[in-house]
Amino acid sequence: MHILTFDIEDWFHTHQNRKHYSGHVWAHLPSRIEENTARILRMLDDLKLKATFFILGWEAAQHPQIVRQIQHQGHEIGAHSHWHHHANLLSPGDFEKDLILCVDTLQDITGEPVICHRAPGFSLRLSDQWAFEILAAHGILYDSSVKLRNTGQNLPLVIETHAGLLTEYPLLETRLGIPFTGGGFFRNLPDEAFNLLFDPPPPYVMYYFHPRDFDPGYPYSNLFSFFRNWLNKRNTDLCLQRLIPVLEKYPTMPLIQANRHKIANTQGT
Ligand SMILES: [Zn+2]
Repeated sequence: MHILTFDIEDWFHTHQNRKHYSGHVWAHLPSRIEENTARILRMLDDLKLKATFFILGWEAAQHPQIVRQIQHQGHEIGAHSHWHHHANLLSPGDFEKDLILCVDTLQDITGEPVICHRAPGFSLRLSDQWAFEILAAHGILYDSSVKLRNTGQNLPLVIETHAGLLTEYPLLETRLGIPFTGGGFFRNLPDEAFNLLFDPPPPYVMYYFHPRDFDPGYPYSNLFSFFRNWLNKRNTDLCLQRLIPVLEKYPTMPLIQANRHKIANTQGT
């Protein structure tokens, strides 16, 4: 099962930038999300692939046309919080308020219920039952917010809540703690390591990319350290060239389709 997902947020929504986490600051930074998301949509169109897009509520409110375009092209839309705070930094009450704000913003634009969710930075743990209770209570049926070491366990995981079952599709790290199937890890791995990890490909892959991963014009910014500026931009001009052959070779699906497979397999056993 190879699942293709994108987290739709701008170049400044990285977690190394926490002291500037404010809509007042964001609103004055040059947005690059439109052209970079368009780049992703063109690639998916060319490859005839569908994917899941976890969209930051704040971005949806600023750029509703991007949400409509993603929906128009037949992709799945999920919630990625409103303010991009790590879930484990929030109280349950604040987590719930933020979720409602994001889901309402997305639903007002698309007219469709939001049933999947990803916390920023894969910041939930399997032990965060309180968060799964809140997600399920607000109609979330499947989630992709947990990062796990690859121990060969059966995936996805089913979590019981008072509002029903919720399915968790985690991101797997290698045994050395490298989540190489997306973001800066995917971009910056040397070819030799990359080929080793993908040949043969793992049976379960959660791909996760951001519009900024494909932005050759990623701006140098005093929001970041010199090293982080270098790392943020590194290989953004090459990421599509690395990703497209992988997507051509190994079939991927959006989460909604993975979840249908899971239900069909469960009923068949
Ligand atoms: Zn994010």
